[in-house]
Amino acid sequence: MRVAIIGAGFAGLSCAHELEKFGIKPVIYEKNDYIGEQYEHTTAILELTDRPINDIKKYLEKRFDIYIQPTNTINTLIHNSPNRQSIMKGEFGYFYSRGRMSNSSKKQLYSGLKHTKLILSKAVHYKTLSKKYDYVVVATGNSNAAEELGCWQDRFVGFEKVAIVTGNFDPNAIIMWINNDYAKNGYVYLAPLNEKKAYIVLVLPCAIEKQLDYYWQIFLDTENINYTIVEEYNLKHKAGYVYPHQVENIYLTGAAGGAVDPFLGFGQINSMKTGIAAAQSIAKGKDYEKLIKHITQKNDYSYEFRKAFNRLSNKDYDKLITFIGLPGIKRLIYDTKIDVLKLGGRYFSILNKRYEQQKNNNEEFSSKC
Ligand SMILES: Cc1cc2nc3c(=O)[nH]c(=O)nc-3n(C[C@H](O)[C@H](O)[C@H](O)COP(=O)(O)OP(=O)(O)OC[C@H]3O[C@@H](n4cnc5c(N)ncnc54)[C@H](O)[C@@H]3O)c2cc1C
Repeated sequence: MRVAIIGAGFAGLSCAHELEKFGIKPVIYEKNDYIGEQYEHTTAILELTDRPINDIKKYLEKRFDIYIQPTNTINTLIHNSPNRQSIMKGEFGYFYSRGRMSNSSKKQLYSGLKHTKLILSKAVHYKTLSKKYDYVVVATGNSNAAEELGCWQDRFVGFEKVAIVTGNFDPNAIIMWINNDYAKNGYVYLAPLNEKKAYIVLVLPCAIEKQLDYYWQIFLDTENINYTIVEEYNLKHKAGYVYPHQVENIYLTGAAGGAVDPFLGFGQINSMKTGIAAAQSIAKGKDYEKLIKHITQKNDYSYEFRKAFNRLSNKDYDKLITFIGLPGIKRLIYDTKIDVLKLGGRYFSILNKRYEQQKNNNEEFSSKC
């Protein structure tokens, strides 16, 4: 069986890994002349977003034979709103390294492949490959193919300002800020690369790229951020709903298949899972849509969080941070195995429907008057 994978990212490499188990030797086309990201950064994988899975690292090892060594564990979460702060301590997940270095997550994933042919510096289009191969797995990390195929709906569109900074950092802590003065219902987070280096990301929804610098400066001033900035770059941030995920012999996986959550932009594990599911569908003839239904569902819940979050003011943020800092609530969210995403998603879905209904009623009323 001839299988082409477009993109040597999390989805593409995981797909190849799974295909090899069935004796299939895929070809990966990668547009860059390297595996990994252009810029060094850290990915956070939070246990909270993958419940009921207990430990994602062990889960990947036991279930899929995938071994990726994290750079650190996450044991502190610091949430900041304009006038409140809450600090959580516990076992929250892992940091993984990203970039071109030999221990980066993607390089580690690639080193587990034995029978896959990798063609670097080759940007390809799924349409050309779909005629030459039995199956094409689109794992490009962007929405282009799904949009061309008419399967994509935007759920979050914005830009990110990413800055690599030096200073003194807790290598096990994530810091997060929510404040509409500079993040406009988006957010800012700091993730450490090590004790001396970290990266800070401002995720700004619905902004034109030019606005990033303006809001970035407000963030630096408001939060009194004095780290030394060694590098800065901008990225497009997009998450969407995809259906169907398979069109003839073309599979949409990873971020290209809507695997990135529209609330906070987590996508690494979902991308890996969709890549693996595509491989299982190709090798065993299983229904891809069914195999990834739980991921689609998870992102639907996450979208309800996003819609509710989009309506919050700075005062609401203060209330939220106070609320999640209450000892009982803290315990409920972080010290139990309750699927908070599912519970919250269902709750917010009701609130969001009521809000929409109310809005429609108001519009109807004012148009009659
Ligand atoms: C700054 C930043 C921070 C993030 N932090 C987190 C986090 O903390 N936690 C988390 O879970 N997720 C995080 N994410 C999201 C996560 O990185 C993505 O969800 C994940 O990488 C998507 O995996 P993928 O395999 O779909 O795409 P990618 O990993 O982006 O890989 C796509 C690959 O396809 C290649 N490609 C593209 N087009 C073509 C083409 N036409 N031909 C050949 N090759 C092509 C690209 O060069 C790339 O190598 C972050 C993303 C960014 C940008």
